[in-house]
Amino acid sequence: MRADAREVVVIGAGQAGCQVAVSLRERGHRGPITLVGDEGVAPYRRPPLSKSYLTGRTDAADLVLREDSYFAAHDVEVLQADPAVSIDRWSRTVALRSGRVLPYADLVLATGARARELPGARVLRTIADAEELRARLFPGARVVVIGAGFVGLEFAAVARTLGHDVVVVEARSRALERSVSAPTAEHVVAEHRERGVRVLLDAPVATVRADRVELVDGTVLSADLVVAGIGVLPAVELAEAAGLEVDDGIVVDAHLRTADPAIHAVGDCASFSCVATGTRVRLESVQNAVDQAACVAAGILGSAEPYTALPWFWSDQYAMKVQIAGLTAGNDRTVVHGDPATGRFSVFCFRGDVLLGVESVNRPSDFVLARRLLTSGGGLAPASVAAAGFSLRSHPVPAR
Ligand SMILES: Cc1cc2nc3c(=O)[nH]c(=O)nc-3n(C[C@H](O)[C@H](O)[C@H](O)COP(=O)(O)OP(=O)(O)OC[C@H]3O[C@@H](n4cnc5c(N)ncnc54)[C@H](O)[C@@H]3O)c2cc1C
Repeated sequence: MRADAREVVVIGAGQAGCQVAVSLRERGHRGPITLVGDEGVAPYRRPPLSKSYLTGRTDAADLVLREDSYFAAHDVEVLQADPAVSIDRWSRTVALRSGRVLPYADLVLATGARARELPGARVLRTIADAEELRARLFPGARVVVIGAGFVGLEFAAVARTLGHDVVVVEARSRALERSVSAPTAEHVVAEHRERGVRVLLDAPVATVRADRVELVDGTVLSADLVVAGIGVLPAVELAEAAGLEVDDGIVVDAHLRTADPAIHAVGDCASFSCVATGTRVRLESVQNAVDQAACVAAGILGSAEPYTALPWFWSDQYAMKVQIAGLTAGNDRTVVHGDPATGRFSVFCFRGDVLLGVESVNRPSDFVLARRLLTSGGGLAPASVAAAGFSLRSHPVPAR
Protein backbone atom coordinates (compact mmCIF):
# COMPACT_ATOMS: atom_id res chain seq x y z
CA MET A 1 0.00 0.00 0.00
CA ARG A 2 1.22 3.51 -0.75
CA ALA A 3 2.54 5.28 2.35
CA ASP A 4 0.07 8.13 1.96
CA ALA A 5 -2.92 5.76 2.04
CA ARG A 6 -1.98 3.83 5.19
CA GLU A 7 -4.36 3.72 8.13
CA VAL A 8 -3.00 5.77 11.05
CA VAL A 9 -4.25 5.60 14.63
CA VAL A 10 -3.00 8.16 17.14
CA ILE A 11 -3.58 7.46 20.85
CA GLY A 12 -3.76 10.71 22.81
CA ALA A 13 -5.51 13.80 21.49
CA GLY A 14 -3.21 16.36 23.15
CA GLN A 15 -0.65 18.74 21.67
CA ALA A 16 1.44 16.01 20.05
CA GLY A 17 -1.39 13.74 18.89
CA CYS A 18 -3.30 16.60 17.32
CA GLN A 19 -0.15 17.76 15.53
CA VAL A 20 0.47 14.29 14.08
CA ALA A 21 -2.95 14.43 12.39
CA VAL A 22 -2.42 18.02 11.20
CA SER A 23 1.08 17.33 9.85
CA LEU A 24 -0.04 14.16 8.07
CA ARG A 25 -2.78 16.04 6.21
CA GLU A 26 -0.47 19.01 5.51
CA ARG A 27 2.02 16.61 3.94
CA GLY A 28 -0.59 14.99 1.72
CA HIS A 29 -1.58 11.87 3.64
CA ARG A 30 -4.86 10.58 2.14
CA GLY A 31 -5.51 7.50 4.27
CA PRO A 32 -7.78 7.27 7.35
CA ILE A 33 -6.61 9.00 10.53
CA THR A 34 -8.22 8.39 13.92
CA LEU A 35 -7.30 10.51 16.93
CA VAL A 36 -8.21 8.70 20.15
CA GLY A 37 -8.76 10.97 23.16
CA ASP A 38 -9.95 10.46 26.71
CA GLU A 39 -10.53 13.93 28.20
CA GLY A 40 -14.00 14.47 26.73
CA VAL A 41 -13.03 17.78 25.14
CA ALA A 42 -11.52 18.93 21.85
CA PRO A 43 -7.68 18.87 21.69
CA TYR A 44 -6.34 21.89 23.60
CA ARG A 45 -3.09 23.59 24.66
CA ARG A 46 -2.00 23.27 28.27
CA PRO A 47 0.43 26.21 28.78
CA PRO A 48 -2.30 28.82 29.51
CA LEU A 49 -3.73 26.56 32.25
CA SER A 50 -1.10 27.81 34.70
CA LYS A 51 -1.13 31.33 33.29
CA SER A 52 -3.91 33.38 31.66
CA TYR A 53 -6.62 30.71 32.00
CA LEU A 54 -6.52 30.99 35.79
CA THR A 55 -7.08 34.73 35.71
CA GLY A 56 -9.93 34.42 33.21
CA ARG A 57 -8.01 36.32 30.52
CA THR A 58 -8.16 33.17 28.38
CA ASP A 59 -11.26 31.01 28.14
CA ALA A 60 -11.75 27.39 27.11
CA ALA A 61 -12.46 28.32 23.49
CA ASP A 62 -9.05 30.07 23.24
CA LEU A 63 -7.28 26.87 24.27
CA VAL A 64 -8.66 24.74 21.45
CA LEU A 65 -5.91 23.60 19.08
CA ARG A 66 -8.19 22.89 16.11
CA GLU A 67 -11.92 23.41 15.75
CA ASP A 68 -14.24 20.47 15.05
CA SER A 69 -14.74 21.98 11.61
CA TYR A 70 -11.01 21.54 10.85
CA PHE A 71 -11.14 17.82 11.63
CA ALA A 72 -14.36 17.41 9.63
CA ALA A 73 -12.91 19.25 6.64
CA HIS A 74 -9.70 17.20 6.78
CA ASP A 75 -11.43 13.89 7.37
CA VAL A 76 -9.82 13.16 10.73
CA GLU A 77 -11.99 11.13 13.09
CA VAL A 78 -11.61 12.47 16.64
CA LEU A 79 -12.87 10.31 19.50
CA GLN A 80 -12.97 12.63 22.49
CA ALA A 81 -13.90 10.18 25.23
CA ASP A 82 -13.15 6.62 24.21
CA PRO A 83 -9.74 5.73 25.68
CA ALA A 84 -7.56 3.06 24.17
CA VAL A 85 -7.33 0.11 26.56
CA SER A 86 -4.97 -2.26 24.75
CA ILE A 87 -2.80 -2.73 21.70
CA ASP A 88 -2.53 -6.03 19.84
CA ARG A 89 0.73 -5.79 17.92
CA TRP A 90 0.19 -9.05 16.06
CA SER A 91 -3.18 -8.19 14.58
CA ARG A 92 -2.19 -4.49 14.48
CA THR A 93 -5.30 -3.32 16.27
CA VAL A 94 -6.15 -1.00 19.15
CA ALA A 95 -9.08 -1.81 21.45
CA LEU A 96 -11.09 1.08 22.87
CA ARG A 97 -13.08 1.17 26.11
CA SER A 98 -16.32 1.16 24.10
CA GLY A 99 -15.38 -2.19 22.59
CA ARG A 100 -14.57 -0.71 19.21
CA VAL A 101 -11.43 -2.11 17.57
CA LEU A 102 -9.31 0.08 15.28
CA PRO A 103 -6.93 -1.51 12.78
CA TYR A 104 -3.72 0.37 12.03
CA ALA A 105 -0.80 0.29 9.64
CA ASP A 106 0.94 2.95 11.75
CA LEU A 107 0.22 3.59 15.41
CA VAL A 108 1.41 6.74 17.17
CA LEU A 109 1.52 6.81 20.97
CA ALA A 110 0.98 10.40 22.11
CA THR A 111 -0.34 9.60 25.57
CA GLY A 112 1.52 12.42 27.33
CA ALA A 113 2.00 12.41 31.07
CA ARG A 114 -0.02 12.71 34.26
CA ALA A 115 0.72 14.95 37.21
CA ARG A 116 2.36 13.19 40.16
CA GLU A 117 -0.21 13.16 42.92
CA LEU A 118 0.31 13.99 46.58
CA PRO A 119 -2.57 12.93 48.85
CA GLY A 120 -4.32 16.02 50.19
CA ALA A 121 -3.04 18.32 47.45
CA ARG A 122 -4.54 19.29 44.09
CA VAL A 123 -2.63 19.11 40.82
CA LEU A 124 -2.66 21.11 37.59
CA ARG A 125 -2.45 19.13 34.38
CA THR A 126 -5.84 19.24 32.66
CA ILE A 127 -8.47 21.82 31.90
CA ALA A 128 -10.66 20.10 34.51
CA ASP A 129 -7.89 20.61 37.12
CA ALA A 130 -7.59 24.29 36.15
CA GLU A 131 -11.33 24.83 36.47
CA GLU A 132 -11.28 23.23 39.90
CA LEU A 133 -8.39 25.45 41.02
CA ARG A 134 -10.02 28.56 39.60
CA ALA A 135 -13.12 27.84 41.67
CA ARG A 136 -11.03 27.32 44.79
CA LEU A 137 -9.19 30.62 44.45
CA PHE A 138 -12.00 32.41 46.31
CA PRO A 139 -11.18 35.88 47.69
CA GLY A 140 -8.80 35.63 50.63
CA ALA A 141 -7.89 31.97 50.05
CA ARG A 142 -4.45 31.11 51.48
CA VAL A 143 -2.42 29.08 49.01
CA VAL A 144 0.45 26.68 49.58
CA VAL A 145 2.27 25.41 46.52
CA ILE A 146 4.43 22.31 46.95
CA GLY A 147 7.28 22.21 44.44
CA ALA A 148 9.17 25.13 42.87
CA GLY A 149 9.16 23.86 39.30
CA PHE A 150 7.69 25.79 36.39
CA VAL A 151 4.06 24.76 36.87
CA GLY A 152 4.15 25.43 40.64
CA LEU A 153 5.84 28.81 40.25
CA GLU A 154 3.51 29.88 37.44
CA PHE A 155 0.52 28.97 39.57
CA ALA A 156 2.06 30.85 42.53
CA ALA A 157 2.58 33.93 40.34
CA VAL A 158 -1.05 33.94 39.21
CA ALA A 159 -2.38 33.38 42.73
CA ARG A 160 -0.22 36.19 44.08
CA THR A 161 -1.27 38.51 41.25
CA LEU A 162 -4.88 37.79 42.20
CA GLY A 163 -4.02 38.98 45.72
CA HIS A 164 -3.70 35.67 47.56
CA ASP A 165 -1.34 34.93 50.40
CA VAL A 166 1.05 32.41 48.78
CA VAL A 167 3.77 30.15 50.19
CA VAL A 168 5.92 27.96 47.93
CA VAL A 169 7.76 25.08 49.58
CA GLU A 170 10.55 23.21 47.85
CA ALA A 171 12.40 20.20 49.26
CA ARG A 172 15.59 20.95 47.36
CA SER A 173 18.02 23.76 48.02
CA ARG A 174 17.00 25.67 44.92
CA ALA A 175 14.08 26.21 42.58
CA LEU A 176 13.78 24.94 38.99
CA GLU A 177 16.65 22.54 39.47
CA ARG A 178 15.72 20.30 36.53
CA SER A 179 15.18 23.13 34.09
CA VAL A 180 17.43 26.17 34.49
CA SER A 181 20.80 27.29 35.84
CA ALA A 182 21.30 28.73 39.31
CA PRO A 183 21.45 32.43 38.25
CA THR A 184 18.11 32.21 36.41
CA ALA A 185 16.47 30.27 39.26
CA GLU A 186 17.74 32.79 41.83
CA HIS A 187 16.32 35.67 39.81
CA VAL A 188 12.92 34.00 39.50
CA VAL A 189 12.77 33.26 43.24
CA ALA A 190 13.87 36.83 44.05
CA GLU A 191 11.03 38.16 41.89
CA HIS A 192 8.49 36.00 43.73
CA ARG A 193 9.81 37.19 47.08
CA GLU A 194 9.75 40.80 45.92
CA ARG A 195 6.07 40.34 45.10
CA GLY A 196 5.36 38.97 48.56
CA VAL A 197 5.43 35.20 48.00
CA ARG A 198 7.18 33.24 50.77
CA VAL A 199 9.52 30.82 49.01
CA LEU A 200 10.91 28.21 51.41
CA LEU A 201 13.82 26.17 50.06
CA ASP A 202 15.26 23.05 51.75
CA ALA A 203 11.74 22.61 53.08
CA PRO A 204 10.53 19.02 52.65
CA VAL A 205 6.89 18.37 53.45
CA ALA A 206 5.93 15.94 56.21
CA THR A 207 2.13 15.92 55.93
CA VAL A 208 -0.60 17.56 53.89
CA ARG A 209 -4.05 18.12 55.40
CA ALA A 210 -7.09 19.90 54.03
CA ASP A 211 -6.31 23.02 56.07
CA ARG A 212 -2.53 22.92 56.53
CA VAL A 213 0.84 21.68 55.37
CA GLU A 214 3.40 20.54 57.91
CA LEU A 215 7.06 20.63 57.04
CA VAL A 216 9.65 18.16 58.28
CA ASP A 217 11.21 20.92 60.42
CA GLY A 218 7.91 21.38 62.27
CA THR A 219 6.73 24.53 60.47
CA VAL A 220 2.95 24.57 60.03
CA LEU A 221 1.48 26.47 57.06
CA SER A 222 -2.26 27.14 57.17
CA ALA A 223 -3.92 26.76 53.82
CA ASP A 224 -7.28 26.92 52.04
CA LEU A 225 -5.76 25.46 48.88
CA VAL A 226 -2.73 23.19 48.53
CA VAL A 227 -1.37 22.60 45.04
CA ALA A 228 1.37 20.09 44.24
CA GLY A 229 3.65 20.83 41.29
CA ILE A 230 5.99 17.92 41.81
CA GLY A 231 6.46 16.69 38.28
CA VAL A 232 4.72 14.19 36.05
CA LEU A 233 4.73 10.50 35.26
CA PRO A 234 4.72 9.55 31.58
CA ALA A 235 1.65 7.57 30.47
CA VAL A 236 3.35 4.36 29.41
CA GLU A 237 0.98 1.59 30.56
CA LEU A 238 -0.37 0.73 27.11
CA ALA A 239 3.14 0.51 25.66
CA GLU A 240 4.37 -1.56 28.57
CA ALA A 241 1.44 -3.98 28.34
CA ALA A 242 2.15 -4.34 24.61
CA GLY A 243 5.71 -5.45 25.41
CA LEU A 244 7.43 -2.27 24.26
CA GLU A 245 10.50 -1.02 26.10
CA VAL A 246 9.86 1.65 28.71
CA ASP A 247 12.50 3.57 30.65
CA ASP A 248 11.07 6.80 32.08
CA GLY A 249 9.07 7.04 28.84
CA ILE A 250 8.45 4.88 25.81
CA VAL A 251 11.86 4.14 24.32
CA VAL A 252 12.18 5.22 20.69
CA ASP A 253 15.02 5.41 18.17
CA ALA A 254 16.36 8.38 16.20
CA HIS A 255 13.20 8.26 14.03
CA LEU A 256 10.94 8.15 17.12
CA ARG A 257 10.01 4.53 16.36
CA THR A 258 9.76 1.86 19.03
CA ALA A 259 11.34 -1.57 18.48
CA ASP A 260 8.10 -2.35 16.59
CA PRO A 261 8.52 -0.40 13.33
CA ALA A 262 4.74 0.18 13.07
CA ILE A 263 4.60 1.96 16.44
CA HIS A 264 5.95 5.45 17.12
CA ALA A 265 5.92 7.59 20.28
CA VAL A 266 5.99 11.39 20.53
CA GLY A 267 5.78 14.17 23.09
CA ASP A 268 5.82 13.92 26.88
CA CYS A 269 5.57 10.10 26.82
CA ALA A 270 8.62 9.48 24.59
CA SER A 271 12.18 8.78 25.71
CA PHE A 272 14.60 9.55 22.88
CA SER A 273 18.27 10.20 22.20
CA CYS A 274 18.66 13.95 22.06
CA VAL A 275 21.10 15.14 19.42
CA ALA A 276 21.73 18.35 21.38
CA THR A 277 22.95 16.53 24.51
CA GLY A 278 23.92 13.10 23.20
CA THR A 279 21.87 11.56 26.03
CA ARG A 280 18.49 9.87 26.31
CA VAL A 281 15.87 12.33 27.53
CA ARG A 282 12.13 12.75 27.90
CA LEU A 283 11.06 16.34 27.42
CA GLU A 284 7.89 18.12 28.48
CA SER A 285 7.40 21.05 26.14
CA VAL A 286 5.21 22.26 23.33
CA GLN A 287 8.22 22.49 20.99
CA ASN A 288 9.09 18.87 21.62
CA ALA A 289 5.49 17.69 21.14
CA VAL A 290 4.98 19.65 17.91
CA ASP A 291 8.37 18.95 16.29
CA GLN A 292 8.33 15.25 17.15
CA ALA A 293 4.80 14.96 15.76
CA ALA A 294 5.90 16.58 12.49
CA CYS A 295 8.91 14.25 12.29
CA VAL A 296 6.77 11.14 12.79
CA ALA A 297 4.23 12.31 10.22
CA ALA A 298 7.05 12.78 7.71
CA GLY A 299 8.43 9.33 8.63
CA ILE A 300 5.05 7.66 8.03
CA LEU A 301 5.05 9.28 4.59
CA GLY A 302 8.49 7.86 3.79
CA SER A 303 11.00 10.45 5.03
CA ALA A 304 14.21 8.95 6.39
CA GLU A 305 15.14 12.11 8.35
CA PRO A 306 15.94 11.50 12.03
CA TYR A 307 14.65 13.78 14.78
CA THR A 308 17.21 16.52 15.42
CA ALA A 309 15.23 19.61 16.49
CA LEU A 310 16.77 21.91 19.07
CA PRO A 311 14.80 21.82 22.36
CA TRP A 312 13.39 25.13 23.57
CA PHE A 313 10.96 26.18 26.26
CA TRP A 314 9.35 29.23 27.84
CA SER A 315 7.66 30.25 31.08
CA ASP A 316 5.67 33.38 31.95
CA GLN A 317 5.56 34.59 35.54
CA TYR A 318 4.39 38.14 36.42
CA ALA A 319 6.07 40.33 33.79
CA MET A 320 8.95 37.88 33.38
CA LYS A 321 9.27 35.94 30.16
CA VAL A 322 11.84 33.21 30.63
CA GLN A 323 12.96 31.57 27.39
CA ILE A 324 15.40 28.71 27.12
CA ALA A 325 17.19 27.66 23.93
CA GLY A 326 18.88 24.28 24.22
CA LEU A 327 19.04 22.07 27.30
CA THR A 328 21.06 23.72 30.04
CA ALA A 329 20.86 21.02 32.75
CA GLY A 330 24.30 19.61 33.47
CA ASN A 331 26.10 22.92 32.98
CA ASP A 332 29.23 23.47 35.03
CA ARG A 333 29.81 27.08 34.10
CA THR A 334 27.54 30.03 33.46
CA VAL A 335 28.25 33.50 32.10
CA VAL A 336 25.60 36.13 32.77
CA HIS A 337 25.17 38.70 30.00
CA GLY A 338 23.32 41.85 31.07
CA ASP A 339 22.37 42.94 34.57
CA PRO A 340 19.77 40.82 36.41
CA ALA A 341 18.91 43.92 38.48
CA THR A 342 17.37 45.46 35.34
CA GLY A 343 15.16 42.39 34.90
CA ARG A 344 16.65 41.78 31.43
CA PHE A 345 19.56 39.40 31.05
CA SER A 346 20.69 36.11 29.52
CA VAL A 347 22.61 33.26 31.08
CA PHE A 348 24.96 31.35 28.77
CA CYS A 349 25.37 27.81 30.08
CA PHE A 350 28.44 25.72 29.31
CA ARG A 351 29.79 22.30 30.09
CA GLY A 352 33.53 22.90 29.86
CA ASP A 353 33.82 25.09 26.78
CA VAL A 354 30.74 23.68 25.06
CA LEU A 355 27.69 25.95 24.92
CA LEU A 356 24.68 23.88 26.09
CA GLY A 357 22.08 26.60 25.88
CA VAL A 358 21.02 30.13 26.68
CA GLU A 359 18.37 31.19 29.20
CA SER A 360 16.93 34.64 28.58
CA VAL A 361 14.79 36.72 30.91
CA ASN A 362 12.92 39.43 29.02
CA ARG A 363 15.48 39.40 26.23
CA PRO A 364 13.54 37.76 23.39
CA SER A 365 16.08 38.78 20.75
CA ASP A 366 18.82 36.86 22.61
CA PHE A 367 16.52 33.83 22.63
CA VAL A 368 15.90 34.05 18.89
CA LEU A 369 19.60 34.50 18.09
CA ALA A 370 20.65 31.75 20.50
CA ARG A 371 18.19 29.34 18.89
CA ARG A 372 19.60 30.19 15.50
CA LEU A 373 23.17 29.74 16.68
CA LEU A 374 22.53 26.42 18.45
CA THR A 375 20.39 25.07 15.60
CA SER A 376 23.17 25.79 13.14
CA GLY A 377 25.53 23.77 15.33
CA GLY A 378 27.50 26.90 16.19
CA GLY A 379 29.24 27.44 19.49
CA LEU A 380 30.68 30.21 21.60
CA ALA A 381 33.54 30.26 24.06
CA PRO A 382 32.78 31.40 27.62
CA ALA A 383 35.50 34.05 27.27
CA SER A 384 33.77 35.58 24.22
CA VAL A 385 30.52 36.01 26.16
CA ALA A 386 32.37 37.48 29.13
CA ALA A 387 34.26 39.98 26.93
CA ALA A 388 33.29 43.65 27.06
CA GLY A 389 30.91 44.65 24.27
CA PHE A 390 29.76 41.08 23.54
CA SER A 391 26.53 40.81 21.58
CA LEU A 392 24.94 37.70 20.11
CA ARG A 393 23.90 39.90 17.19
CA SER A 394 27.50 40.34 16.07
CA HIS A 395 28.31 36.65 16.48
CA PRO A 396 28.34 34.89 13.10
CA VAL A 397 26.01 31.92 12.64
CA PRO A 398 27.74 29.18 10.62
CA ALA A 399 25.97 27.96 7.47
CA ARG A 400 24.69 24.38 7.92
C1 LIG B 1 -0.07 23.67 33.44
C2 LIG B 1 0.93 23.41 32.35
C3 LIG B 1 1.66 24.47 31.83
C4 LIG B 1 2.59 24.25 30.81
N1 LIG B 1 3.29 25.31 30.31
C5 LIG B 1 4.16 25.11 29.30
C6 LIG B 1 4.87 26.20 28.73
O1 LIG B 1 4.75 27.35 29.16
N2 LIG B 1 5.70 25.94 27.67
C7 LIG B 1 5.86 24.68 27.16
O2 LIG B 1 6.63 24.48 26.21
N3 LIG B 1 5.21 23.62 27.72
C8 LIG B 1 4.37 23.80 28.76
N4 LIG B 1 3.70 22.74 29.29
C9 LIG B 1 3.99 21.38 28.80
C10 LIG B 1 3.21 21.05 27.56
O3 LIG B 1 1.86 21.42 27.70
C11 LIG B 1 3.33 19.55 27.29
O4 LIG B 1 4.70 19.28 27.08
C12 LIG B 1 2.50 19.13 26.09
O5 LIG B 1 1.14 19.28 26.36
C13 LIG B 1 2.80 17.69 25.75
O6 LIG B 1 1.93 17.25 24.75
P1 LIG B 1 1.56 15.69 24.62
O7 LIG B 1 0.58 15.62 23.52
O8 LIG B 1 2.80 14.90 24.59
O9 LIG B 1 0.87 15.32 26.00
P2 LIG B 1 -0.54 15.81 26.58
O10 LIG B 1 -0.78 17.23 26.25
O11 LIG B 1 -0.51 15.41 28.02
O12 LIG B 1 -1.62 14.93 25.80
C14 LIG B 1 -1.73 13.54 25.97
C15 LIG B 1 -3.19 13.17 25.87
O13 LIG B 1 -3.30 11.76 25.77
C16 LIG B 1 -4.39 11.35 26.56
N5 LIG B 1 -4.30 9.91 26.83
C17 LIG B 1 -3.45 9.27 27.67
N6 LIG B 1 -3.69 7.94 27.64
C18 LIG B 1 -4.70 7.75 26.75
C19 LIG B 1 -5.42 6.59 26.29
N7 LIG B 1 -5.13 5.36 26.74
N8 LIG B 1 -6.40 6.74 25.38
C20 LIG B 1 -6.70 8.00 24.91
N9 LIG B 1 -6.07 9.11 25.32
C21 LIG B 1 -5.09 8.98 26.23
C22 LIG B 1 -4.28 12.26 27.77
O14 LIG B 1 -5.45 12.31 28.56
C23 LIG B 1 -4.00 13.59 27.07
O15 LIG B 1 -5.19 14.21 26.67
C24 LIG B 1 2.78 22.93 30.33
C25 LIG B 1 2.05 21.86 30.86
C26 LIG B 1 1.14 22.09 31.87
C27 LIG B 1 0.36 20.93 32.45
